[in-house]
Amino acid sequence: MTERTFSFEFFPPKTAEGMDKLRATREQLAQLNPKFFSVTFGAGGSTRDRTLETVRDIQASGSAAAPHLSCIGSTEENIREILTEYKSQGIRHLVALRGDLPSGNMDAGEFNYANELVDFIRCETGDWFEIEVAAYPEVHPQARSYTADLANFKRKVDAGADSAITQYFFNADAYFRFVDDVRAQGVTLPIVPGIMPIGNYVQLARFSDACGAEIPRWLRKKLETYGDDMASLRAFGLDVITDMCDRLLAGGAPGLHFYTMNQAGPTTTIWQRLGL
Ligand code: FAD
Repeated sequence: MTERTFSFEFFPPKTAEGMDKLRATREQLAQLNPKFFSVTFGAGGSTRDRTLETVRDIQASGSAAAPHLSCIGSTEENIREILTEYKSQGIRHLVALRGDLPSGNMDAGEFNYANELVDFIRCETGDWFEIEVAAYPEVHPQARSYTADLANFKRKVDAGADSAITQYFFNADAYFRFVDDVRAQGVTLPIVPGIMPIGNYVQLARFSDACGAEIPRWLRKKLETYGDDMASLRAFGLDVITDMCDRLLAGGAPGLHFYTMNQAGPTTTIWQRLGL
């Protein structure tokens, strides 16, 4: 069996205080020895400097950083500059995405889809970067169909992606079926499940609706019963997510990528319960 990989995702903080907090989170999570910490990138380059600053900080601490890079709203020249900067910082790992434009404004730029970005990165920088792409076991919300989304995923792989991280989900079967369907197309790259710990139900429901992650009815109903009792909600959420991770790993998932929301607690607890 190939070695499993574990990674943790951060978003770039807006303030110096947020940056200090993130350092503390990172120090705690670094003890779990992840393959890399990834840092999100606002569409259209809106967090460009903060993403870079966060990535530099991670690299300086001795851990590997993988910045996300979204292409919608960007020109080839914008992306070239960012790639050059990352290369000069010794970054060897990227998460390549299309991104979403903020509603109703901005020029879409010179890239339409993530496969074009992967292709561009390979043309400009050869094999310098290890490239992750996004995968959607429950189908990307803008996809014409499951089959079309699968074909789009394969396009990213054919353009040169090395591995994939999924959108989060609460239904392990969706992941296993997606992996089977991808494998049936001859695609062999690792597809690492993205894991979202359950914290704030209202926020999670809103976000899940927007990104097409389904919260199963039984889970929604159960989470609703907790109301403002956050402690019980989190305790229940930890049970649900730990069980799902256990099933994913037992079923052959090649690792886990945690959407940490810049917090160490939930991820560390799940990690310990899994006995990793
Ligand atoms: P694509 O793979 O380009 O797909 C987008 C849609 O277009 C899909 O519906 C696909 O089926 C369709 N499509 C693709 N190619 C074609 C084609 N040729 N013709 C017709 N349709 C096509 N967003 C950010 O802004 N910043 C981040 O840092 C960020 N990090 C993320 C990390 C992960 C692991 C994941 C899963 C998502 C992340 N996102 C991030 C969200 C992501 O940008 C959105 O989900 C976005 O809508 C799609 O990006 P993508 O790279 O999957 O796009």
